[in-house]
Amino acid sequence: MILPLFKYHPNPIDTGAIERTEEACECCGQARGYRATSTIHSVESIETICPWCIADGVAAKKFDGEFSDSHPLLSDGIDREIVKEVCERTPSFISWQQERWLSHCNDACEFHGDADKSDLEALTGEDLNKFLNAEYIEPEFWSHILQSYTEGGDLAVYKFKCRVCGKDQFYSDCS
Ligand SMILES: [Zn+2]
Ligand SMILES: [Zn+2]
Repeated sequence: MILPLFKYHPNPIDTGAIERTEEACECCGQARGYRATSTIHSVESIETICPWCIADGVAAKKFDGEFSDSHPLLSDGIDREIVKEVCERTPSFISWQQERWLSHCNDACEFHGDADKSDLEALTGEDLNKFLNAEYIEPEFWSHILQSYTEGGDLAVYKFKCRVCGKDQFYSDCS
């Protein structure tokens, strides 16, 4: 079975956002073999939603919710149609705090999961300064953070990629 394509989350199996399951989707009632690991923010507590019900927007409508918080993108001034696609028709990701979808060049970025160490080591100069500033990380702590960084650790760094200019974007999150 071929999973639907998510423009803003191109490899949801790799990022861990979509996993195999035997469970039936609570939206369409079918057991289609896959579900999202990060569920929908809605008043009902829903555990199992298949990627197809996410992609066509049925789940967001049915449960009147969002997979990702729309506020960060809206406050970045991103077009509402794009925000709807990301928050209502794209699988989100599991984070310590409320997830924050990044944008760049007036578009939402693609989500690429936890940054690996080499991504962070490649972050230098002006880009590094911008990141540290935005994340309130003291520059003198950065090399220490980098040394002990592991994917899925207490300090998470998520990687996004701008679809317009191709630049990687990051944000950090603590347990
Ligand atoms: Zn479904
Ligand atoms: Zn860009």
